[in-house]
Amino acid sequence: MAELRLTHIGKRFGAIQAVDRLYLDIPSGEFFVLLGPSGAGKTTTLRLVAGLEQPDAGNVYIGGRDVTTLAPALRDVAFVFQQYSLYPHLSVFDNLAFPLRSPLRPTPEPEVRRKVEEVAQMLRIHDKLKNPATKLSGGQMQRVAIGRALVRSPSLYLMDEPLSSLDAKLRNDLRLELKRIQQDLGATMLYVTHDQIEAMTMATRIGVLDAGVLVQVGTPQQIYEDPRSSHVAARLGSPRINLFPRALVPGVAGPQQAVTVGVRAEHLRIHRDASNTAHRSARVKRIERLSDQHLVHVGLDDSDQELIVSAPGGDSFAPDDVVRVELMRPLWFDAEGQRIATT
Ligand code: ATP
Repeated sequence: MAELRLTHIGKRFGAIQAVDRLYLDIPSGEFFVLLGPSGAGKTTTLRLVAGLEQPDAGNVYIGGRDVTTLAPALRDVAFVFQQYSLYPHLSVFDNLAFPLRSPLRPTPEPEVRRKVEEVAQMLRIHDKLKNPATKLSGGQMQRVAIGRALVRSPSLYLMDEPLSSLDAKLRNDLRLELKRIQQDLGATMLYVTHDQIEAMTMATRIGVLDAGVLVQVGTPQQIYEDPRSSHVAARLGSPRINLFPRALVPGVAGPQQAVTVGVRAEHLRIHRDASNTAHRSARVKRIERLSDQHLVHVGLDDSDQELIVSAPGGDSFAPDDVVRVELMRPLWFDAEGQRIATT
């Protein structure tokens, strides 16, 4: 497995700067997730690494080798796309064997069989090897597509939302499997998604991409707890972080230049004792009951502002309850949405 380094790569399409001076250093064996909304430049970044696009600026290094002008087939990377593209007339076995039988890297047939069976075992599709690819379910097809990348043992895996076309249950299962396989193989992975749960659960590190710019890189925990901007704070965490004007919490001391306050649902506490004037008075609007917690939506008095509070499942609230809301661990943001550091 090899490390990947991108040195301030850029790519423009007409007026759109799809990727903007992106610098990235991914050590060997890391599961790196590029997280961003549609149009952020995730796919373009992958295509630049794969050699399917040429950067306007910067270089791509794989395993220390400058591959910027190298043809895609010579880069030793495997690409898994969002839409599985299997050969419908071939069996699962032959689909998996296909990359090994390429004239570029012919592999002896016993070796092909050994690798295909190993990968099929890993992805739990070994009982389907003789089936025609078209007879598989969506989840099985996507496993074959991932398997085709795995059989080649490339230096680097590039995956572009490989789970997004699957239903929720399969997505969960494959997420865990993919992570396990990556760890077993010690594979270097550049994985693109707009799904924060995938990013949080699979990544060694996450890079948050916004309009072609890598706005923050860190472990899932670092990005969750220490977001650099309100944009990043809102990108991770379910329910979404509560963001509201600072003017709504006059009692809470904060940095002078703070314009917006961010508080995660688990850092808000509801008090039934409405007499404690240190906390903001509010009224319960509705309750979402999840298995282990309740999400209580409260409206702050004298404003349209609604906050989502995570409360233990045992607490029972009802709409129209008059309560007080305590803010813990507020994050402060300036007029541009940049985080203001506090100690
Ligand atoms: P999505 O999740 O929707 O695929 P993304 O984060 O992968 O989004 P990209 O596909 O990399 O984003 O696109 C980044 C920007 O570059 C977008 O504004 C897109 O319209 C533009 N773009 C990408 N490829 C091309 C192209 N070949 N020609 C023109 N514009 C392009």
